[in-house]
Amino acid sequence: LLARVAAHESLGAFLAVDEEVALAQAGAADLWRARGIQGAGHRLLGVPIAHKDIFVTRDFPSTAGSKMLADYHSPFDATVVSRLAAAGAVTLGKLNCDEFAMGGSNENSAYRPARNPWDVTRIPGGSSGGSAVAVAARLVPATTGTDTGGSVRQPASLTGVTGIKPTYGRCSRYGMIAFASSLDQAGPMARSALDCAHLLQAMSGFDPRDATSAEQPVPDFVAETTTLRPGASAERPLAGLRIGLPKEFFGEGVAPGVLGTVRAALAELEKLGATLVEVSLPRTELSIPVYYIIAPAEASSNLSRYDGVRYGHRAKSYKDLGEMYRASRSEGFGPEVKRRIMIGTYVLSHGYYDAYYLQAQKLRRMIADDFQAAFKDCDLIAGPVAPTVARPIGSQTDPVAEYLADIFTLPASLAGLPGISVPAGFGEHGMPVGLQLIGNYWQESALLHAGHALQ
Ligand code: GLN
Repeated sequence: LLARVAAHESLGAFLAVDEEVALAQAGAADLWRARGIQGAGHRLLGVPIAHKDIFVTRDFPSTAGSKMLADYHSPFDATVVSRLAAAGAVTLGKLNCDEFAMGGSNENSAYRPARNPWDVTRIPGGSSGGSAVAVAARLVPATTGTDTGGSVRQPASLTGVTGIKPTYGRCSRYGMIAFASSLDQAGPMARSALDCAHLLQAMSGFDPRDATSAEQPVPDFVAETTTLRPGASAERPLAGLRIGLPKEFFGEGVAPGVLGTVRAALAELEKLGATLVEVSLPRTELSIPVYYIIAPAEASSNLSRYDGVRYGHRAKSYKDLGEMYRASRSEGFGPEVKRRIMIGTYVLSHGYYDAYYLQAQKLRRMIADDFQAAFKDCDLIAGPVAPTVARPIGSQTDPVAEYLADIFTLPASLAGLPGISVPAGFGEHGMPVGLQLIGNYWQESALLHAGHALQ
């Protein structure tokens, strides 16, 4: 695999690969296996993986896709990283992403864009673009990503792999470089729902080092992904499942090829026994302004730690402390990160707080309530992940237009609900299209089960 990774360097999936570390971990896995130590705790023994460069790691640099952290080496591993290592996984390296996970194309990486293996002139999506490319190009069987407003689901959809964002609080955020703390969640990306279940099993669970980590029992995701529910049969594994289609997810603005592919996948789910019902998420459009107030607000606060004093980039020349801060931050951050810091600082400032931030918080609650109303009539919600297939690299220069493309992933993020993207087929230009399924809180198994049935 290391040779395969090297051969596909031009895809820009990896920011760091360390053969020595990988081979040492693989050697340890071999030893465990030889001594018969493989047990339930070692469910991923010897499985090669790689992490989005948002997770801090002791054995590799941790850059968050930013020049700000170009030389940063963490003294500790993120909880998700150490849990996957404890399960026996072998880490090959760190994966490319948009700077501080801000973006949906990987073009905001301070290092280089990542390329979609289905057409290397196109984006793989983002911000977990490297994570998606590594799986889609078969460089590793599984990777980690993070999803604040769609960054696991959207690149999974655009590259034809499976990715799940769990319920907020399911996976520890300890050691995940913070973007918007009330939204950030880790999630696995792999070829199938079942592979995702294996990773999620190892990644999940309460962690006292993350104050928002939930004390929620972790089910047997793998068993629940594959076991038939009462009343279901091998021919109709989804019998009894009600899938809600929000009418706001099927309106104009979705490319015909995407819509057609999603509808075909829904017909397939129906054949598998599911019933389709129409539901409504009336504030879907509002999720864009709400998210693009809340996420930058939290980002502006989280990113204030990069001051050039304790760690991160420090400017070479400055006259006084104020200038040192200014120069270090001007040099270290890229344009999208600066844009978000400015938006965030503005909406939080005295005099504007009530008009923007407070208003956004109230709407966020209403968006979450809309989901609960919809879940009265259905078990899962389905729709597209993104309105179009992957666009050409460099073809979008308007940041607001780019924000609008997040419309179908933001609602679940704001509500803290779990969502999965499973490959549904191909749309415009023969590019992959994912089907999004959204579940109620802690219902990851239901998403994985339906995704598995479809695959
Ligand atoms: N595209 C969204 C943004 O730019 C989502 C990013 C993410 O989920 N990390 O904020």
